[in-house]
Amino acid sequence: MSTVLVRGLHKSYGPTEVLRGVDLEVRSGEVTVVLGPSGSGKSTLLRTINHLEKVDAGYVAVDGELIGYRRSGDRLHELKEREVRRQRTRIGFVFQNFNLFPHLTVLENLVEAPVSALGVPRAEAVERARRLLDRVGLADRADAYPRRLSGGQQQRIAIARALALEPKVLLFDEPTSALDPELVGEVLDVIKDLARGGTTMIVVTHEIGFAREVADTVVFMDGGVIVEQGPPAQVLDQP
Ligand code: ADP
Ligand code: ADP
Repeated sequence: MSTVLVRGLHKSYGPTEVLRGVDLEVRSGEVTVVLGPSGSGKSTLLRTINHLEKVDAGYVAVDGELIGYRRSGDRLHELKEREVRRQRTRIGFVFQNFNLFPHLTVLENLVEAPVSALGVPRAEAVERARRLLDRVGLADRADAYPRRLSGGQQQRIAIARALALEPKVLLFDEPTSALDPELVGEVLDVIKDLARGGTTMIVVTHEIGFAREVADTVVFMDGGVIVEQGPPAQVLDQP
């Protein structure tokens, strides 16, 4: 069963066609790694999946639910922003630059969205947050503010924060490219651990070794289309 279904995505910025017909399926529990040169549309693809960007044609469905639209007969109608925000809680997003709330402690960073967006009782959200901090190896930093943490630690918190909404799928946009090289491993280890635990993920990265080790499917984008797609050995080890 597909958790993420992308069909015929087209997206232009003015005269620049950035996505030129992208089709993608990610099955439940699988990891898709998206590789490709800078400017090939990887980040735009991720942002269209959670409807941070509107598309010109095509559609995205997560767990069978259209994202950003409602079907009525043969027509698609745009959903209201409030409804799109609700859908986004099902699609976790981890950015290159962590994007933690600087004025909230680590624990509050994890508690805020489940309480405000999903109405999870605070005590339950706190318990969930502590479990997640434990999972990313940062249980002892619950009361710290993000600026006191290393980039690698901040990114692990950002991953835990995305997981706190219990999303259907987790999207990563170059999660290690803003990190000092010695901190990359600790973030990739967290993602590997999630992969082993069956979290459905789409990871845009330049880390080929990670792709080889963790991906069920490797997708290679160039010029706004997917030019190669398959198991890592097939895509990465071509003569
Ligand atoms: P990648 O993630 O593969 O580096 P992007 O999806 O970020 O590629 O960008 C693909 C192309 O789209 C680039 O040429 C980029 O400059 C352009 N682009 C991305 N976002 C915008 C935007 N908001 N307005 C105009 N052009 C954009
Ligand atoms: P990424 O590492 O995600 O590919 P970029 O540097 O391509 O980041 O883009 C960063 C931000 O700038 C994004 O929000 C993107 O939409 C926007 N952007 C990228 N290229 C352009 C462009 N040519 N014109 C306007 N906005 C752009």
